[in-house]
Formats: sequence, C-alpha cells, structure tokens
Amino acid sequence: MQDIWQNYIDGAWVDGGAGRIDVSDPATGEVFCAHALASAADVDAAVTAARRVHLSGALRDMRPIARGRLVQDMGRFLLAHKDEIAAELTREQGKPLWEAEIEVEGAALYFEYYGNQASTVEGRSVPLGAGYFDFTEHEPFGVSAQIIPWNYPLEMTARSLSAALTTGNTVVIKSPEMTPITNRWFALAAEHVGLPKGTVNVLCGMGHEAGAALAGHAGVNQIVFTGSVPTGVAIATAAAQNVVPCVLELGGKSAAIVHDDADLEAFENDIRWGIYFNAGQVCSAMSRVIVHESRHDELVERAAKVAKSLSVGPGADRPEFGANMGAMVSQGQRDRASGMVQAAEAKGARIVTGGRPLNRPGAFLEPTVLDGITPDMAIARNEVFGPVLSVLPFRDDAEAIEIANSTEYGLVGGVFTSDLDRATQAARQLRAGQVFVNEWYAGGVETPFGGYGKSGYGREKGREALWNYVQTKNVAIRLKG
Ligand code: NAD
Repeated sequence: MQDIWQNYIDGAWVDGGAGRIDVSDPATGEVFCAHALASAADVDAAVTAARRVHLSGALRDMRPIARGRLVQDMGRFLLAHKDEIAAELTREQGKPLWEAEIEVEGAALYFEYYGNQASTVEGRSVPLGAGYFDFTEHEPFGVSAQIIPWNYPLEMTARSLSAALTTGNTVVIKSPEMTPITNRWFALAAEHVGLPKGTVNVLCGMGHEAGAALAGHAGVNQIVFTGSVPTGVAIATAAAQNVVPCVLELGGKSAAIVHDDADLEAFENDIRWGIYFNAGQVCSAMSRVIVHESRHDELVERAAKVAKSLSVGPGADRPEFGANMGAMVSQGQRDRASGMVQAAEAKGARIVTGGRPLNRPGAFLEPTVLDGITPDMAIARNEVFGPVLSVLPFRDDAEAIEIANSTEYGLVGGVFTSDLDRATQAARQLRAGQVFVNEWYAGGVETPFGGYGKSGYGREKGREALWNYVQTKNVAIRLKG
C-alpha cells in the first residue's frame, strides 16, 4: 500500500496545510501509512470549489434522471473495486475482511437506492382558485458538509453523499482521522463518472481543526454529522451561528426487551449480530438486553455461549463469513471499553464472560457479557461502543419499558415476543427512532433511521432522508383575466 495519502480538493490530490497523521493497523498497532491533514485554509478551498460548482448549476440543473444515473454509477464503481476497498478498510478499521466486504456492498447500495429516486423528488401544485397557479419545488441547499465517524467510514459517507448528490447538492466530506484511507474511493468514483471538479471534495483533518472549520464555514448550506453527542452539540452550535440546518446522528444505548414468550434460541442470532458485529462499534448496537426474570438465567447462559463461540483476531485472517470478530479501531477505544467493564465490576456487575483485552498486540477485547446490572449503573446508561452486552431483568411489561426508556438516548429499540399485541404496544411506548420486532437490525437502506433524545435529530436512510438535502420553494403565479 502507498505510504502517504492526500486530500481531494477541487479535483486535485493535495497535501494538507496541517501536516500529516499516522494511520495504524488496529490488528497490530503498527503505523502503515500517513494521511494529509487539512487546515482551515484547505477547508475553505474545498467549500469554495463546491460552492462554485453549485452556483454553476452543473448538477442542480441537470435532468434528475441523468443525475441519478451518475449516482448509481458511483455505486457500481465501488462494487467493481470491492476487494481492494475491503482490504484497505480492514487494515485501517480492524473489522474482519468479510465484514468489510459487507460494508462496501452496503455503501454501494445507498448509491443504487438514492440514485434510483432522483426523479421522484417532486413538488405539488397548491389550489388557489381560478386566478392563480401555484406550485412547490424542491431545490438543493447547495454545499453539504458531511462529518464522518470511524466505525463505518464507507457506509456513513455513502449514506449522506449519495442522497446529497441525488438531490443536486455539492459536497465537502471531512473523513475520520483514524480511518481516512477508504474515503478517497468516493473521490475516485466521482471522477470516474465524470462529475465536475469540485462537486465532491474529500479531506481528512482533525475534528477540532478541519471539522470545526467546516461546521462553522459561512459557505456551507447544510451539515450532516454522525458521531458523538459532545461533538454533535458543538456542530449544532456552529450551524446555529450560520443559521443552516443540520442532521445529527449521534450515539445510543439501545435495548432489546425479551419477554417470557420469546424464542431464545432464535435470539442467539440477535445477540451475535446485535452486539458483536463490528466489535460492537455500532451506534445502534443492542448494548442492553432487558429480559423477563423467568427467562433471565437461560438468556445469560445463551449469551455467554454466543460470546464464547466467536474467534477473535486480525480481520485480514478472517476472510470468511463466520463466527469471528476483529480488533476494535484503536487501543484507546479498547482501553476505554475494558475500563468501563472494570468500573462496572467494581460497582457490583458480574462478568459472565470476556471483559479482558487479548494477550497479544492489537486492539482486541474479548466478547463480553455482564450480568447483575441495575438501570442506575454507568454501564447501563453510557455508550461503551464495544463488544459488551449488559443484561438487566424485569418483572412486568411496564418495568421493561421504563428501563428501556431510562437513558438519555433513543436511537433504536427491540421487542422479542410471540404476542403481536404486546410487541405493538411496546413499539409505541419505546422512545426510539426505530423499533425492531423479533429481529435486531431488521430494515435496510429503505427504512428511515435516526434518534430521539440525545441520539440526535433528522433522519437518514429511506425516503425521509432526501428531504434533509432540499429546501422547498413555492411559486405563486397570478393569471390574467
Ligand atoms: P466523534 O464525535 O469524536 O467524531 C466524529 C467526527 O467528528 C470525526 O470526523 C471527528 O474528526 C469530527 N469532530 C470531532 N470534533 C469536532 C468538532 N469540534 N467540530 C467538527 N467536527 C469534529 O465521534 P467518533 O468517536 O468518531 O464516533 C463514535 C460516536 O459516533 C459514537 O458515539 C457513535 O454512537 C456515534 N455514531 C453514530 C452513528 C449514527 O448513525 N447515529 C453512526 C456511527 C457512529
């Protein structure tokens, strides 16, 4: 692999005004390359380029069906390079190679899904009587700034970029400083399909420097941020200063409620994917299981079995779909997660299995199950962002909902039961943007996703997301006679 990677501004590959950052392989801790770091001046150049393209009308005025075709072609380009991209993603992020391939496919799917809808962003006519003709149309905001986290660098960028381009916006992406390498594929895809220079700009930089400069730039018309709550607050504050809208996709502490009539054998699969996929570094991870007391012991036993069944090690050695897990993104994130487990143990939690870093180089943490958790403990309220499942018992339905709703977050939730009425009631009572019934992560790119409470606002995915990228104009025409 190349030693040094550059930023992509106005169609050119350039060094960064803020120097470079080392990029490490989480599986070994070794630095394997460096990436240019953008300064505020680089951000300004990127926004200026994106603004120029926006004002030129090159994208905005294109027939939507043609624009949509370009967006779809970008997805095809990613798929055509799936193996290369996946290998790089595993190297920078730590996930098993097969998970990286799923991420590339998932990223491509966003371009397919949104590209296909470009011509469906229709306005309406508003009846005002015989003397008028009135209609609405949806126009792109202009320059969309997209600030990306490290856990799914490809899918998170693809999600916002594809919808923004589909609706005719130009884009400046601030890629994550720990996993910046694969984001350049979006620049390559934009070049490949022939988007005008400056339409898509990809730059890596530190959050407090390039990120803050982008969020506060007066030339930005809309912001999409995916990341932590404190950063979300900083970005919303910057957006407010410039009076531009933003979408915040923040963290979660999402809970599955498992009733006494649930199929616990099937639920093992939900544990496997819900908390151990991407080593638990998923904003919508199933980090809490709230189980009826009559099934508690059985559930804990089954969860421990799932955790112990996973082989943990370097993602590059794990090419095949299967019972395995890779490194966490960094030693720092791993130590934070294992520190939270230790702190929980000191407060009376029982480590059923896992909880320790692996005795080898790399950011590995054993798949962990914690029992004896009460809703007031820090481990039950704060996001671990690692492979750590907390199990809490409940006595009746009302208590289950109360525990599920007892955190500041509200991203997703789950209900596991064979009683449809009970599931429907619970779905209505859970304070979360998405509720899964009998399958964690049910849904797809087609289903709207976003938070209640401190999990953020605005929706990504689904038709709903398209409306984040357009503003409505009303045209009222006075007719003669
Ligand atoms: P983070 O908030 O530290 O960083 C996210 C991005 O923001 C990075 O690109 C970073 O450089 C940038 N940033 C940091 N400070 C900034 C500032 N002051 N101004 C502008 N930009 C700044 O989050 P992270 O640690 O990279 O990601 C983990 C968090 O993201 C978790 O809390 C997780 O739940 C959340 N997340 C949410 C979703 C979702 O869709 N809801 C998806 C993935 C991750």
